[in-house]
Amino acid sequence: MSLQITDIRKAFGGFQALDGVTLTVGEGQLVGLIGPNGAGKSTLFSVVSGFIEADTGEVRFKGADLGRQSPAARARKGLLRTFQVPREFSHLTVRDNLKAAAPGQTGEGLVGLFLRPGEVARQEVEITAKADEVIAFLRLGPVADLPSGRLSGGQKKLLELGRALMVEPSLILLDEPFAGVNPVLIEELVERIRELNARGIGFLIIEHDLQALTRLVPILHVMDRGRILASGTPGEVLEDPKVREAYLGG
Ligand code: ADP
Ligand code: MG
Repeated sequence: MSLQITDIRKAFGGFQALDGVTLTVGEGQLVGLIGPNGAGKSTLFSVVSGFIEADTGEVRFKGADLGRQSPAARARKGLLRTFQVPREFSHLTVRDNLKAAAPGQTGEGLVGLFLRPGEVARQEVEITAKADEVIAFLRLGPVADLPSGRLSGGQKKLLELGRALMVEPSLILLDEPFAGVNPVLIEELVERIRELNARGIGFLIIEHDLQALTRLVPILHVMDRGRILASGTPGEVLEDPKVREAYLGG
């Protein structure tokens, strides 16, 4: 099992945003996570990726308890997330945004001071090559040297995915990758996700666009009010009366 989330609870003040979430993602699986606004989906991603701490519960990745590890430590283990609202550095070019997402850049920070300049230069070459590979894979070549603030919504989503790909991921958590993306770029994203999955990368995907999502994932979980309401194939889950009721606000 790649990711095991067990009985996660998280309250903000008196509000129980996560109320005992248990969920697993097998190695290399493509899994969807849907649910009405405010269900706690993004909060779950923040707990799993280490951006916020759960009150109780456990997150295991590749068998090991992640405890209080930082997002960067989790990323180095291959667990990556993207954000619902892309977090690119808008003044940096697409290429530099990708380079900034590379892990363990010893040229920066205190450790870099003690490294031989040759080592720092070698890393720079490696990171640049990796960024160029990601740019080619995501077909971002024509905009690679533009400030990323000038990208379209869809291109920013591609860049978010690209930032995750700089880190040799084994599981990527995508938070609404298709939101605000035009249909042509949604196709593009779906194809790239399929290709990455064929290489063994797993995905847990939060998405409102059920049409795009259900074409992509064989397994779907539905969250409502901080809990998993239903799980199964997209067909099973969307037929479930509990799910219909949650979506109608019943
Ligand atoms: P979803 O992604 O399913 O739409 P979220 O996880 O973003 O839902 O939010 C779940 C609930 O938790 C919402 O009611 C939201 O307002 C609340 N919430 C999320 N983050 C915080 C926070 N940092 N402080 C207080 N409340 C929060
Ligand atoms: Mg959300």
